[in-house]
Amino acid sequence: MGGRRILVVEDNPLNLKLVRDVLAASGYDVVEAHTGEEGVDLAGTCDPDLVLMDLQLPGIDGYEALRRLRRDPRLEEVPVVAVTAFAMKEDRERTSREGFDGYLGKPISVPALPSQVGDFLERGRANGR
Ligand code: MN
Repeated sequence: MGGRRILVVEDNPLNLKLVRDVLAASGYDVVEAHTGEEGVDLAGTCDPDLVLMDLQLPGIDGYEALRRLRRDPRLEEVPVVAVTAFAMKEDRERTSREGFDGYLGKPISVPALPSQVGDFLERGRANGR
């Protein structure tokens, strides 16, 4: 799975660094975005295999960013996974209802993250169209 490109959309610098370092150490190619708008722009140009999307972001939130991503036909096959500390059942259900392909709760588990990302890559579009 080395060399797969992961776009990480995260506004918190410490969370971003953690995720980036763990994924890079596992051989993933990591692209970073700090806002939803930047994430949408980069997703259209960096040819990601997977997007990890924080839900609480400055400017547009992760839900709106997902809606914009899904308008881009280049991203049709790209799974987008919600990342949030809102670990309530209703929140997980909302991410699925709004079209996210998976869900990762914060705090991120460093030992588990590489294989979780591997699973999301393998599974692809959960809401596959
Ligand atoms: Mn955030």
